[in-house]
Amino acid sequence: MIRATSPSRMVRATGFGMTEGGDVYLYRPTNVQEVKDILQMARETGRQVVLRGSGRSYGDANIARECLMLDISRMNQIYSINKQSAEVDCQAGVTIEQLWRSTLEDGFWPPIVSGTMAPTLAGALGMNIHGKNAYVAGPIGEHVTELDVVLPNGDVRTLKPENPLFHAVISSAGLLGVITRVRLKMKRIKSGDLRVLPLSVPDWAGQFKIFEDLEHDADYMVTWIDCFGRGKHAGRGVFHAAWYTQENEEFPSTLRPENQDLPDTILGFFPKSVVWRFLKPLNNRFGMRALNAAKHHASRLLGNGKQHPQGLVGFSFLLDYVPNWRNAYLPGGFIQYQSFVPKEHAPRVFAEQVRLQQEAKLESFLGVMKRHKPDPFLFSHGVDGYSLALDFKVTRKNREKLWQLAHAMNDLVVAAGGKFYLAKDSTLRPADFQATIGSENLARYFDLKAELDPESILTSSLAKRLGLDPREFSK
Ligand SMILES: Cc1cc2nc3c(=O)[nH]c(=O)nc-3n(C[C@H](O)[C@H](O)[C@H](O)COP(=O)(O)OP(=O)(O)OC[C@H]3O[C@@H](n4cnc5c(N)ncnc54)[C@H](O)[C@@H]3O)c2cc1C
Repeated sequence: MIRATSPSRMVRATGFGMTEGGDVYLYRPTNVQEVKDILQMARETGRQVVLRGSGRSYGDANIARECLMLDISRMNQIYSINKQSAEVDCQAGVTIEQLWRSTLEDGFWPPIVSGTMAPTLAGALGMNIHGKNAYVAGPIGEHVTELDVVLPNGDVRTLKPENPLFHAVISSAGLLGVITRVRLKMKRIKSGDLRVLPLSVPDWAGQFKIFEDLEHDADYMVTWIDCFGRGKHAGRGVFHAAWYTQENEEFPSTLRPENQDLPDTILGFFPKSVVWRFLKPLNNRFGMRALNAAKHHASRLLGNGKQHPQGLVGFSFLLDYVPNWRNAYLPGGFIQYQSFVPKEHAPRVFAEQVRLQQEAKLESFLGVMKRHKPDPFLFSHGVDGYSLALDFKVTRKNREKLWQLAHAMNDLVVAAGGKFYLAKDSTLRPADFQATIGSENLARYFDLKAELDPESILTSSLAKRLGLDPREFSK
């Protein structure tokens, strides 16, 4: 039985970008009864609860000051792997890493993965994550065949895709219920290797052209953008497409997890664990301008247009190569900004966003573009178009100007009928979110909130910031 809040449970938690944080009472339940106990304690004490997976959302969606934090990560048991139906049944605290390590040998791969393997399925469904195959496979919610959710009053519901609540709980950023069990349909694979095609791209027009040329062919597509490129070099970068492959053996060695592990060293001798310390002195405008340019020129000269095999893990989880890389952004941390824009407006909007950054001398150190498609979820971020994800270093000095820049970029997205992604947000104003999510979806959210969570037990700093926590209205 979980007992009342005690100061000894207090910890400081931040989003992944380390710009927002707060003290919370940490609870890490191991079963559904303990989840219910935490919710009951919140009802009895008048406190609110913030849900947390692995804490990989960049901004403030997984934190809330002075609240109970219900961290699902210890509910991480895989119940079964059905080899006929390709479904995995598991507790929602199972991570993407656990999932691929447990199923690769049977020829399965998670249908959708993020750029890191750390997220839990609960967090992945809270945000409805997308991968480099978003334009064919949609977000992860489209691959869930059943889930259990504990509602704020303690009732447990089992939801399937035909149940209307299914498409609301998934994507609702942990504000409608606690997902505790998931049944996920995996992708069948015949090899742990992909065939990867790298292409050096000179400008924005080239970037969009390659996506269009390959969108009916490639299994994965992603491109890196050098946000320091100007004039005729604006939009330059390196595009990667990848295809699943098939090997002739019945049990190829590429399906063994130990053969997919990321290396411990860089260039064969340099321990990865210390790499972020070397990145830190470069982690400023001048260093990053040089690194981005070097990467672009290397891509033109080395391997351009030459296909090569690469392990699924190495290709998928590029951001896990360097442990603790985010520490290079300390002391101020960083924000990620990702906007989704319909395809007819994306070339203009993204070019203008990057131009605004250059004008403000606040260029993103990393730009990544992907192709997407619309989806039927409540807080959907999918559009028939493209997303551009941008990383910005935050300092005490630049913070105000950076938020002004983000608001100017938001205005472009709203005017173009685009969307935002709550997992990557730190800067939206309530009106930005309302305009992009639509009044119908917003009304449905508040109806569900009133029905399922009338005391607004579930919250987050993001919910308070965006006007999604009705308890704030009564203050
Ligand atoms: C390096 C890096 C790369 C990334 N790449 C991608 C990418 O390619 N594509 C992409 O889509 N995202 C990407 N992300 C974002 C990440 O996938 C999402 O933020 C994901 O939600 C993180 O999962 P988590 O387990 O850490 O959840 P958290 O960040 O802890 O929580 C995410 C949300 O889920 C809610 N939640 C937590 N537990 C539950 C529960 N039990 N029931 C209901 N809701 C719950 C939380 O309240 C919160 O709103 C990336 C993040 C990082 C750090």
